Amino acid sequence: MAATLLWFRQDLRLIDNSAVQAACDLGFPVVPVYLWAPEEEGKWIPGAASRWWLHHSLLSLSKSLKALGLPLLLRSGSSTRELSNIAKEVGASHVVFSRRYDPAGVAQGAKVKEALKAQGLVVSSFNSSLLFEPDEIMNGKGTPFQVFTPYWNACLKHRLVDLPKISPPKLRAADILPETLTVESLGLLPKIPWASGIAAVWTPGEKGAHAELKKFTKSVLGGYAETRNLPYIAGTSRLSPYLHFGEIGPRQVWEAVAGNPMTPSAQTRAGLITYPKELGWREFAHYLLLHFPHAADKPIRKEFEKFPWKKKASWLKAWERGLTGFPIVDAGMRELWQTGWMHNRVRMIVASFLVKHLLLPWQQGSEWFWDTLVDADLPNNTLGWQWSAGCGADAAPYFRIFNPTLQGEKFDPEGSYVKKWIPEIDKVPSRWVHRIWEASPEEQKKAGLSSKSPYVSPIIELAEGRDLALEAYQSMRGRER
Ligand code: FAD
Repeated sequence: MAATLLWFRQDLRLIDNSAVQAACDLGFPVVPVYLWAPEEEGKWIPGAASRWWLHHSLLSLSKSLKALGLPLLLRSGSSTRELSNIAKEVGASHVVFSRRYDPAGVAQGAKVKEALKAQGLVVSSFNSSLLFEPDEIMNGKGTPFQVFTPYWNACLKHRLVDLPKISPPKLRAADILPETLTVESLGLLPKIPWASGIAAVWTPGEKGAHAELKKFTKSVLGGYAETRNLPYIAGTSRLSPYLHFGEIGPRQVWEAVAGNPMTPSAQTRAGLITYPKELGWREFAHYLLLHFPHAADKPIRKEFEKFPWKKKASWLKAWERGLTGFPIVDAGMRELWQTGWMHNRVRMIVASFLVKHLLLPWQQGSEWFWDTLVDADLPNNTLGWQWSAGCGADAAPYFRIFNPTLQGEKFDPEGSYVKKWIPEIDKVPSRWVHRIWEASPEEQKKAGLSSKSPYVSPIIELAEGRDLALEAYQSMRGRER
């Protein structure tokens, strides 16, 4: 008897999923499968926050499939071996799955395809996670773009990938039910109760994704062009973890935003123009990592391999714990630890501070983000860190150094964001809140801060950190010659 294995990867949704659509179209009984294969991820095994999210996402997908009468089959170990075994157990004739575009995902997909085809199965893969197929976008010389604007302009001349219109999908269960693990037995949840703060603010799963999208298009999108830079309000879509795990597809988000049928007001128009460009940055990140697969570990701009980074464990620890003494940096790092997410403006500030003022390698920052972000995404994280360190494609020039005090004053003028995450500075008046060390000892004392507080004596002096960063940059340029 023919049957289709529907292999879920980073596409943990039923609606707008080309692989699900293909399984429907084939018309055979369907066996939905998820494989936990951490040894196939190389260095980038999903971090603690991602594993927390994955646990809940699998429970959610399992529930949605159950409502359609299909159990989700869970296995762990080699994906080739497990899929091959399941195919034999259920007598499958076809395998369908969505492509991944990160290096480990590409290698895994190719290996599975080859092995299962050799076993006589018909194997098909689909794009369910990007708006454009990255192989189709090349510059005039036939090589990959390295600058965002011409890349995005070239994308916009292409057709968007199709949006399947199956809702809800019509899938028929197979008669044979092979042995399955439970989500709990995968051991994805952290051993310490750290994730309770994450659970308080996030609802993983396809339903949670649509609720977030609805909230965004209804009440945030109009002002997005402006509010996206303000960390003290919910001025962005917060869709990043849902997009990473494929609980919602970018095509659905595009449709809801760019294809918004309302006659837009000037304000909404600005949001409608700005937002799709952010999805464009996501596309660019995936595109770059596909074409420069070493970029997660090594700088795209080769001269940065000689950059004289420092090794200072105590500074790294202070940065990770949100104890540097610079409120906007510490607030971001504490928001990350407590909720698994950080606002984009603040990500740029904390990253710049780590790689420039502290001169610590961008890879150390990217590894910390990888472990603690619920939206940890190898392409986006790599792009963000290489951009911040000035060593990536189309990156911020290294010598442009964010001053955390001025950034704080510009984007959080009343200090409400920093006070939310750093309760010990709650009593500091707004005029000092981003430069507490400049207040008089009496004022510091009045605000309840002792001379030992990091906000009275931050770990570095900003001007000195900036000068050292510029010197390091010049020394790298010198070595280059
Ligand atoms: P919105 O502003 O609502 O944007 C919508 C979507 O567009 C996001 O969900 C995301 O998928 C995409 N997007 C927005 N900005 C970017 C960007 N600069 N690069 C790539 N895609 C973008 N994003 C991740 O998803 N995972 C990461 O691991 C990650 N690491 C980062 C590390 C650093 C150092 C920096 C500076 C940025 C990083 N970003 C990462 C990008 C960005 O900060 C987040 O995507 C964004 O903050 C998520 O919030 P949102 O969904 O509300 O974004």
